Amino acid sequence: MKIITSIKEAQAIGSKIRASHKIIGFVPTMGYLHRGHLSLMKLARKKCDVLVVSIFVNPIQFGPTEDYKKYPRDLQHDSAMAQEAKVDYLFCPRAKNMYGPGYSTVVNVNRLDQIMCGKQRPGHFSGVCTVVLKLFNIIKPHQAYFGQKDYQQLAIIKRMARDLNLEIKILAGKTVREKDGLAISSRNVYLNREQRQNAAVLYKSLHLAGGLILDRQPVEKARKEGVGLLKSNRFVTAIDYFDIRDAQTLKPVLDTSLKNDILIAAAIHMGKTRLIDNIIIRGKK
Ligand code: AMP
Repeated sequence: MKIITSIKEAQAIGSKIRASHKIIGFVPTMGYLHRGHLSLMKLARKKCDVLVVSIFVNPIQFGPTEDYKKYPRDLQHDSAMAQEAKVDYLFCPRAKNMYGPGYSTVVNVNRLDQIMCGKQRPGHFSGVCTVVLKLFNIIKPHQAYFGQKDYQQLAIIKRMARDLNLEIKILAGKTVREKDGLAISSRNVYLNREQRQNAAVLYKSLHLAGGLILDRQPVEKARKEGVGLLKSNRFVTAIDYFDIRDAQTLKPVLDTSLKNDILIAAAIHMGKTRLIDNIIIRGKK
């Protein structure tokens, strides 16, 4: 495995591999790698000739009061994990090179960025799309892999790829969870012992609502029950949203005829830690 920090070098390597007609698979990450990231690497490794993983804590996707500075970083551990996952190139650019003096360009995916996480984190998805498009332009992958854990992000990246005619297949990997159901996340290290013991309440609340949707109960009832379970847990300090939406369009779902797949997604705070998760209820189709 080769570690690259230079953008120019990464660009040259991407061009060279493309010219040799090999399929490049790409997994963008912010590092502090865990089993969720590894599952995406495994998917890509199976389908592609060359596997590129990036590690970049992207400053422009963090709000001014968010955790950019304290976001966990451990390049040594990450490179050992990437090596084990048979990554060919680990791309770790520096923020000052990604956003040099006079940097002015951003990508906005309108509408989809106004709901769910976008409401609470203005500018977040613009930061995500901008860095992902930059990374795509540098690496030039044929396929890029994203986790369903960040469902809205996946939907927005798919929209961007379609809207901007990117010749890149956007592929999704299932959410990898801890034994108790908590979705694995680099941010889980922020949780103290008691918070960690209670964190699976998020997943449980999604399932509670999901069970009611499957029983054809009204959407509002399912939402109320899910929110109720979260509110009854004293370690949940805030609920940013608990939404039931069409999994394709992300528009609110009003009836539970289950014609299409339904997304149940929520974001909560446990103290200073923000957790997100979602499940999909499969429609009849
Ligand atoms: P991050 O490093 O948190 O920006 O995540 C990098 C990629 O890994 C994104 O596409 C995430 O959706 C994905 N990812 C993060 N956690 C998980 C998980 N528990 N299961 C599957 N994919 C994940």
